[in-house]
Amino acid sequence: MKTYKLLTPGPLTTTDTVKKEMLFDHCTWDDDYKQITQEIRKKLLELAHVSEDEYTAVLMQGSGTFGVESVITSVIGENDKLLICANGAYGERMADIADHAKIDHVIYNEHYNLVPDAAKVAEMLDADPAITHVSMVHSETTSGILNDIEAVGKVVKEKGRVFIVDAMSSFGGVDIPVADWGIDFIISSANKCIQGVPGFSFIIARRSLLMESAGKARSLSLDLYDQWKTMEVDGKWRFTSPTHVVLAFAQAMKEMEAEGGIPARNRRYTENNRLLIEKMNEMGFRTYIDGTHQGPIITTFFYPDECHFTFDQMYRYIKERGYAIYPGKVTEAPTFRIGNIGEIYREDIEKVCGIIKEFLEEYNHEEN
Ligand SMILES: *Cc1c(COP(=O)(O)O)cnc(C)c1O
Repeated sequence: MKTYKLLTPGPLTTTDTVKKEMLFDHCTWDDDYKQITQEIRKKLLELAHVSEDEYTAVLMQGSGTFGVESVITSVIGENDKLLICANGAYGERMADIADHAKIDHVIYNEHYNLVPDAAKVAEMLDADPAITHVSMVHSETTSGILNDIEAVGKVVKEKGRVFIVDAMSSFGGVDIPVADWGIDFIISSANKCIQGVPGFSFIIARRSLLMESAGKARSLSLDLYDQWKTMEVDGKWRFTSPTHVVLAFAQAMKEMEAEGGIPARNRRYTENNRLLIEKMNEMGFRTYIDGTHQGPIITTFFYPDECHFTFDQMYRYIKERGYAIYPGKVTEAPTFRIGNIGEIYREDIEKVCGIIKEFLEEYNHEEN
């Protein structure tokens, strides 16, 4: 079987031991299984640096978007209004969710290579008292930029609003003191930095606000409060849960702890990212995001000035040699992306950069 490692922002390359957990068809209603769910929920709160009195964790079937949609459509009431800070496709997806659910909202669009500005958010909140909630992406996977949720959270709290963060591609890879940064709802998923496989998202929610949201949800299956209420009793999921994915995730959490938790994972990803950018720069690739805002998860690169190859050629060449990279997603210039999360180490970065170097030697000539 020909395999490759994923240099994408999730799903990502997982360990064999995480994959092996999925060989067991677990029963959903028995105590062992419910206990695993409860253990996961408890550990998620620890990773978020929050107490069980103030916060609670909810697991939700589906990919990350299901988690974001669950929060937005469950906690923002009919008389509420959402301010969405968007500097990439995932911020814009929140607006799409709000549109579909007919939720009153305004968008603060920022250029894809700039972070949303806390002062601008403050201004918008002062100008529009009807705004009750503010939402934003932490690691904008579209570009790889790491947004300043701490600064925006501070403003949102000062102005007495609710703060919702999509930390899909950063949670577990970047330390986030959720309570200290004024975050009321934070969303991530099983297949990103905790290095599980795809199948559910999770939400860490401020208990009081979650309880207040009872009865507000616009969808049955994505009703965050109802999902929580059932799960809170004894760890039973409301509808069929992705049992194999849950078992794999529990194992992934153990492996994360063994690696040294978020600090160790952050060091590994940051070093992967630093090395990648250094080596790519040496080959003439410039990054789309500047050094101050570049996050440690995924990097957007411009093609070289003298470029005689297509993404497809490069993708296939690298894939045949063991790695899968990602197309670009920013709108203004042709780019491509390389992720460095998952079971990816220094050797992998060195190897893939070696492959890219060979590719350039073979392909980047006029005659191509
Ligand atoms: C991965 C990701 C999502 C969720 O995408 P899905 O395809 O639904 O898993 C949402 N926001 C960000 C920032 C992401 O990186």
